[in-house]
Amino acid sequence: MNKDYSVKFVSVVVPVYNEEGCLQELIDRVVKTLDTLKCPSELILVDDGSRDRSLEIIRAAAAQRPGQVIGCILNRNYGQHAAVMAGFEQVRGDLVITLDADLQNPPEEIPRLVAAAEEGNDVVGTIRQHRQDSLFRRTASKIVNAAARTATGVDMKDYGCMLRAYRRFIVEAMLQCHERSTFIPVLGNSFARNTCEIPVAHAERKSGESKYSVWKLINLQFNLLTCMTTMPLRILTYFGLLTGASGLVLSLYIIIRRFCWTDGGSWANGGTFTLFAILFIFTGIQMVGIGIIGEYLGRLYNDVRARPRFFVDEIVGRVEEKKDGSGK
Ligand code: UDP
Ligand code: MG
Repeated sequence: MNKDYSVKFVSVVVPVYNEEGCLQELIDRVVKTLDTLKCPSELILVDDGSRDRSLEIIRAAAAQRPGQVIGCILNRNYGQHAAVMAGFEQVRGDLVITLDADLQNPPEEIPRLVAAAEEGNDVVGTIRQHRQDSLFRRTASKIVNAAARTATGVDMKDYGCMLRAYRRFIVEAMLQCHERSTFIPVLGNSFARNTCEIPVAHAERKSGESKYSVWKLINLQFNLLTCMTTMPLRILTYFGLLTGASGLVLSLYIIIRRFCWTDGGSWANGGTFTLFAILFIFTGIQMVGIGIIGEYLGRLYNDVRARPRFFVDEIVGRVEEKKDGSGK
């Protein structure tokens, strides 16, 4: 029997953190796009502890369109991926689309994602065309994408773009993952069987600036690494074995040279600084190694403590309705 891939209800989840400059336009454009879909839909705006007028805008939109625009208000800032997870808890649709609030990806692409999902895909990714980000970020994301491809075994070109669609069961699976440091596109793909990627437009940030400082960005990259794989730990072990073995060979050579060729040992003194240089290199590598272990351990510690990832303060705009979710 052929599986039914038709989409019956679309939920759009948008994390919002200090986006007063573009939020109203985002809401208008998403709602307008959703209205063109054949099936009912909802827009879930997750306020991630904004300190500007974003919360006000969300409340107003939810009051204006109850049932269609829903505000999920977190009590403070938990980070983009935790905010998306909070939104996932609220979805009613069988297809869930994530999107950034800064209008870097046009909401008008949503119907194309829905169409791609209806072709039988569990996850629909997107490839940013003519990406409008700095060279540093583009290079960083090239490396990350290559690593994510290897780790998930899913051949996607662009993991960094948050405009993506997930089938409901993928979202449910993600919600069952209780690790705190998640990177949603990678996590989603680890449960997907059929995936595809479609090219989408990419614009500059409409207003405000990136909410990722260099430190937050570094943390995100480590989250990505540790959520994907434990390979770096193994590489470290191999590297340790290799250096240990070469150290052994080197000392054997020195001993033999010292005792077999009695050339006075004058050659040994000259090498002091070389020795220091080598020592520094290996000490550095050891430190990095310990640091990487620390990154894993720190996250493990957080997960073991099992604190809640976020705390939802309030849900606005939800209307009580029948189970079939036809509340458009
Ligand atoms: N965001 C969030 N919490 C944060 C940081 C960011 O909810 O702590 C949201 C932000 O409002 C935006 C999305 O995550 O909708 C992506 O953020 P941004 O555009 O700043 O990231 P970039 O495009 O620079 O990677
Ligand atoms: Mg952005």
